[in-house]
Amino acid sequence: MKKLWFKIGISFFILFFITMGLVGLFSGELMKTTYLDMKENQLEDEARVLLHTTNIENVNLDQNSAQIQEQLSPLTEEVDARITIVDNKGHVIADSKEDPTTLENHANRPEFKEVLQDGQDVGIATRKSDTLGYSMLYVAVPIVQNGDVAGALRIAVSLESVESAINTLWGNLFLIFGIALILIALISIFIARKITKPVQEIIEVSTDLANHEYSSRIYGKSSGELQELSISVNKLAESLETQMFEIRENSQRLTAIVENLVSGVMLINHDKEIVMTNRMMYRILGKQEITGKPFYEVIKSYGLSELIEETLQTKQMKQEEITIYFPKEMILDASVSPILMEDGEVSGLVLLLHDITQIRHLENVRSEFVANVSHELKTPVTALKGFAETLLDGAMYDEALLKQFLTIIKDESDRLHRLILDILALSRIEQKTLPLQIEEVNVNDMMEQSVKTVSELATLKEISIQKKWDENKTILIENEGDRLQQILINLLSNAIQYTPAKGEISLQLEDLGDEIQLIVKDNGIGIPAKDLERIFERFYRVDKARTRHSGGTGLGLSIVKHLVDMMEGTIHVTSQENIGTTFYIRLPKHR
Ligand code: ADP
Repeated sequence: MKKLWFKIGISFFILFFITMGLVGLFSGELMKTTYLDMKENQLEDEARVLLHTTNIENVNLDQNSAQIQEQLSPLTEEVDARITIVDNKGHVIADSKEDPTTLENHANRPEFKEVLQDGQDVGIATRKSDTLGYSMLYVAVPIVQNGDVAGALRIAVSLESVESAINTLWGNLFLIFGIALILIALISIFIARKITKPVQEIIEVSTDLANHEYSSRIYGKSSGELQELSISVNKLAESLETQMFEIRENSQRLTAIVENLVSGVMLINHDKEIVMTNRMMYRILGKQEITGKPFYEVIKSYGLSELIEETLQTKQMKQEEITIYFPKEMILDASVSPILMEDGEVSGLVLLLHDITQIRHLENVRSEFVANVSHELKTPVTALKGFAETLLDGAMYDEALLKQFLTIIKDESDRLHRLILDILALSRIEQKTLPLQIEEVNVNDMMEQSVKTVSELATLKEISIQKKWDENKTILIENEGDRLQQILINLLSNAIQYTPAKGEISLQLEDLGDEIQLIVKDNGIGIPAKDLERIFERFYRVDKARTRHSGGTGLGLSIVKHLVDMMEGTIHVTSQENIGTTFYIRLPKHR
């Protein structure tokens, strides 16, 4: 692309070149003609002077040719010009350079013809002389005798000097012309640059704006329309910059909202390609870098793909609960909405996925809990009813039976009572209606107390409880003593319950700096590996028949787990069948 300044400059230059050329040619020609005219006039004057001084007008030319020749001879040396005299027939009478007898008739020479034949006052011609061999200027004047043209006198001068003068003139003219051209070229470039500089700047700023560089401005000074244009372009740039800033800010806000949504969002275009997704969608799908890919390559769930395809076809919003199995099993509330254009065609889709796995799980747990509670209550109630009816049917009259049945009724009532207490405790903990009553707890005392509480049970089974803590080193923590004790009693009771007679139990306390660790260990029946994960669930028992017989409710560990969570601690268990079980509890010292 040729630059504007170059175009303007070259136009200037060509214009000046043509003008200067024409002026030069014209003035050259003019000077040449003027010079020749002057020379002609000068020669004419000289010729007339010569006519008078030589007295040629008063003598018969043909008869006095020798005398005239003689008269002309001295002029040969003195004058640079050639003088020729002819009679009215064109015969050469005298010649200052040549012998007239050797010269042919000159009647046909244009300058003589004009004077002798055409009767002109003066005859002028320019030609290359046959005799002398170079360009000559010939000026002839008539010799008038008694009113008639008797002949003519011609003065000829070499045009060599004229031509050299004209050549010098041309030379000078070309020199001036050349210098003027160089100056004009420089001035043209300067002027063109000056004119185009603001235009150039406007072009640069416009290009910057097109390339999204909205901070670009025109700073150069200009005037007239260019100044107005510069101001307009600057205003345009300013408004674009503000608008872009607003657009960017809005888009950042929108991105932040979409990115931080707890639902997965995906935008799909009409070519079924993923245009945009948020962080949650990556998490749900377990994939990164999915933008630009077709959705069916990314979404491996048949149900979800079907839902999208259906929405594309029906152009209707669809919502469904879908379970996906990759990257992990999840229950999703999926909704697909079409983005419709003015003509009703689908330009894209918005897919929203909400993870409702937890909600569904909780719902299941709740209904399971209700079923479990009913079932657990039913067993003792059925037993109570059965034994009471048997007694009423007559068994009460047998004292031994009466006592046995009443004992069973009492045991079952106790179990029912425990069950109800546990259920109430658990539901209270779960509902978080009773927050921890934080106090300073002497862990050593509290452990001592717990061992004392279960010691009767242990003695019955001849189980020894080892106390593994330094009695001289008291550990104080911020917690709720009663609930901490409940944890320990639950664990110790279980240990006693699931350890055969004469077994061994130990209770250990460790100081871990910011935390304490409580370890309850037994050498009892242990828990099978497959059940380990589930023992903290409500009503979960490893062996239902046996534990129920032992009076367990299946809620003890569930209560322990909830309490430990409440205390922001951790619990874990290791166990081996027939070797023993160990529970580890870590609790922070400070709250
Ligand atoms: P339960 O009232 O039946 O004891 P828990 O919630 O306290 O209910 O315990 C759940 C199950 O975990 C028990 O049924 C039992 O099978 C098992 N379990 C708990 N503690 C021990 C232990 N120390 N040794 C072996 N099994 C245990």
